[in-house]
Formats: sequence, structure tokens, C-alpha cells
Amino acid sequence: MAKPIILLTPGHEDGDDKLYMKFSYVDAIIKAGAVPLIAGLDTDEDYISTALASVHGLLLTGGDDIDPSIFGEEKSDKCGPVSDLRDLFELRALKLALEYGMPVLGICRGAQVMNVALGGTLYQDMPGHRQSGAYHEPHHSVTVTEPLSEIYPEHSPVNSFHHQAIKKQANGLRVCAESDDGYIEGVYMPGHPFFVGVQWHPERMIQTDAAARRLFEKFTHECTAYKMKGKKND
Ligand code: MN
Repeated sequence: MAKPIILLTPGHEDGDDKLYMKFSYVDAIIKAGAVPLIAGLDTDEDYISTALASVHGLLLTGGDDIDPSIFGEEKSDKCGPVSDLRDLFELRALKLALEYGMPVLGICRGAQVMNVALGGTLYQDMPGHRQSGAYHEPHHSVTVTEPLSEIYPEHSPVNSFHHQAIKKQANGLRVCAESDDGYIEGVYMPGHPFFVGVQWHPERMIQTDAAARRLFEKFTHECTAYKMKGKKND
């Protein structure tokens, strides 16, 4: 059976002639049995809807900060570089993915994009969650609840590279992981086949953490189910 195709959103700095994609994302998707497709960034709605209609899952990757104007705040001096192009592409792609009922995995910034797209807000700069150790090394523990607890143990050590985090949780989302110091580290959408955002970087832990591998496998499994469902409707 042909593998599902998953659209990955790359990083971009306005004015720079590059797209950025960490190898670990494509590697995690391939090892979990799917085909990663790196998205070109454009705000044209026909382009975005054609791209989304061609794939079976959406992975919102980590990256730079989201422009705080999107959640109605002034930009603090702690806010890093932003990309209007990436922000707009991801918000539009996510809206379409929701309309289609397509599986979505958000990682770090991706979890924040999910929250902001649905009306939540972010801390623009919070302390203590940016580790200096190696990418695969855990930095703090999270307490995991349903449905993520089907994948991760109740107390899971995770890595941490963020300085932003969910402040006001969006109405449509529920918390499924929380850090020891009380920040939201995982969200999901009740009733959706797979709409999960995590604040840590499981793609950097697949070599050492079976739960990180299970998360990608569950995601690609749901993308396969989405693909098969689409076929039946043709
Ligand atoms: Mn963290």
C-alpha cells in the first residue's frame, strides 16, 4: 500500500532567500512510514488548498516566534524574528486541514500556532525551558493525560527549546501534557482523529525514546486512515 504523504512547514526569515528544514523532522516521518513533503510558502489560497488536497497529514514544525499581533498583543522586546509569510501560510493551511478533518501534528512553535489559530494566546518570553544540553537529552518532566497517555507514560522526561508557551488556551483545545512548573506542554482537540500539539521536540528523541517513536507512528497511522477514507469517498 502506498504510504501517506505529510506536508511539513519549513522555517523562513522574511527577506532571506532560504527555507529551513531540520533533517530530524523528515527522518522521523520517513522512519514512521510516511513520505515528507516540504511546503513552499505562499499566501495564495488556491495554492494552499491544492497543496493540502494533495496530502494526508500536516506537520507544523518548530521555529521562530509567531507575530504577537496575531493574538492581539504588542510585540515585546523579547520577541525574536518573525515571518509574516510563514505565519499566514500556517494559519491558512491549518484552517483547511481542520475543514478536511486531516491529521495535524504541531511541534513546539506548531503547538503554539494551533493555539493561536483557534483564538488562544502565548507567553512571549518565559524562563527555564531553553536547554543548553544535547537535543535528545531530557530537560524537564511532563505530566501526561488522555489521550496522549496512550502514547507517553504519565511522567515523561522531555527536551525543551522554547521561550514561548501557551498562555490562554484556545476554547477548542484541551491540555494533555503539563510541565512541572505549570506550563501547558501538550494540547489536543477532542473529537478529532488526530490534532495534537506538543511543546517538546519528539523528532529529536526518536533514537532514545520509544514514546517519541510511537507519537510519529500514531500520527502516520492516522494519516493512512485519512487517506483510505478519502479513497472511499472518491
Ligand atoms: Mn518545556
